[in-house]
Amino acid sequence: MFHGARQDDRWSIVRIAREAGIQLFPRRNRPDQYEANCPFCGDTKKHLQVHGQRDVFNCYRCNAQGGVIRFYALLHNISEESAKEELRGGDRGHTTFKRKVYRHPAERLSAKEIKALGFLKVPNWEELKKKDPARAKALADWIWREKQAYDKELQRMQRFVLKHFLNAPLNKGEDHHAEQNHSDRAANG
Ligand SMILES: [Zn+2]
Repeated sequence: MFHGARQDDRWSIVRIAREAGIQLFPRRNRPDQYEANCPFCGDTKKHLQVHGQRDVFNCYRCNAQGGVIRFYALLHNISEESAKEELRGGDRGHTTFKRKVYRHPAERLSAKEIKALGFLKVPNWEELKKKDPARAKALADWIWREKQAYDKELQRMQRFVLKHFLNAPLNKGEDHHAEQNHSDRAANG
């Protein structure tokens, strides 16, 4: 299995290309293969080919070619040694792999926020994603829907309160007083 063999998404040539802003056009009938305007020679006719499964690239115009490390090094104008280091997770990175690892928005909610939505337990996202990615996704979607409904309701209430506050007569305090006297009487009677 090609994708399983890679182990680490940071070494995906497709991903590196996308992170660098290169637009990839899928090749017809060739799964996981793309063409693009080569960033190394100012090409505008999609001479660059990117092979997703083999993680190699090749430009038919300028003959730039190689694997992930070479591609990364050329793109960011650094040595292959530095490229290797960055791809291994060094922190001088030109790209933002660490931050861009996909996280569902629901995963960013705090425990307090999740409990406020009525959920009793905060999911252990990492564990759940490993065990059952589909279920993790379903749960995250559900929590996120609840969160959006909650926010909407909160905004609605705030608008309601604001509207009543703005429309309230200034002698509201006296009204309140009268009401209290009335209920006092009712209690005594
Ligand atoms: Zn080229």
